[in-house]
Amino acid sequence: RREAERLDRYKPAITTDGKRVEIAANISDPKEAATAIEAGAEGVGLMRTEFLFLQREFPPDEEEQFEAYRTMVRAMNGLPIILRTLDIGGDKNVPYLRMPAEGNPFLGVRGIRLCFEREDLFRTQLRAMLRASKEGPVRIMYPMIATPAELAKAKAITEQVRREVGAGPVEIGIMIEVPSAVVMADRLAREVSFFSIGTNDLTQYVLAMDRLHPVLAPQADGLHPAVLRMVERTVAGARAAGIWVGACGGIAGDPAGAVLLAGLGLAELSVAIPAVASVKARLRGISMADAEAAARAALDCADAAEVRALVRDRFPGGA
Ligand code: PEP
Ligand code: MG
Repeated sequence: RREAERLDRYKPAITTDGKRVEIAANISDPKEAATAIEAGAEGVGLMRTEFLFLQREFPPDEEEQFEAYRTMVRAMNGLPIILRTLDIGGDKNVPYLRMPAEGNPFLGVRGIRLCFEREDLFRTQLRAMLRASKEGPVRIMYPMIATPAELAKAKAITEQVRREVGAGPVEIGIMIEVPSAVVMADRLAREVSFFSIGTNDLTQYVLAMDRLHPVLAPQADGLHPAVLRMVERTVAGARAAGIWVGACGGIAGDPAGAVLLAGLGLAELSVAIPAVASVKARLRGISMADAEAAARAALDCADAAEVRALVRDRFPGGA
């Protein structure tokens, strides 16, 4: 019985009516790639590369980054890994970059915006990622894309670097975590291979509640219908262009969130390593038809508490 449970985590998440959802893991340390596979992840849906840049006096050079990325790609053993380019700024401050203090850091120079301010860092990172891509299926993802112009610029730089290092074609995707990206999803979708919805930031920007705010953060629940409607709209934009959508924010690993995101049409959920097996088991226990019906009903709820109650009612036994 124990052994059966242990092996269950390597089985895919297929709903009772035969629909498969890919379950990947979020990691932030190169050593975690092996741990993620061990835990049953079918890929890495988000590698937060900024952790290679934190708690030190100067940025890692190309060789150090290349070693880190290559270690992970090799540990994946042919499974895909999504490497997110530097997502610094906002709550993640890096003193040695000496970026000017900002009144509203979450609305400031963060994510891809910082990469444009510090194009040297961006190019070095892309060189290391693209060199590592010669060893296995690497996908590159840009954080905080707000406009088609930003995406075009990031892609142009990436393409230049790709030629420089002689790497083959690499799938490019973007985080959907800013409301303008949701609204422009149909246009953005024509330019990338995939979307991954960052529900942590998307929730903070849609509800205008700082995700770290001592009073407001608990109310900033990603299951709020306003956020779910943004997910629905993102999926519609992606479908028109024929690309897949995943999610890598915290609600992907939440038992109610996983069901609703699957029901809204997400192909992949990337969750914290300890949640991989439980999310897989959860999706194996439900039908996609029921998940879709619950998601439709959730879109009509008034708030997150109502959404959570609805999921509890419809899927008794789930956490
Ligand atoms: C998110 O915003 O949902 C996300 C996954 O990215 P991070 O938590 O690193 O901002
Ligand atoms: Mg984010």
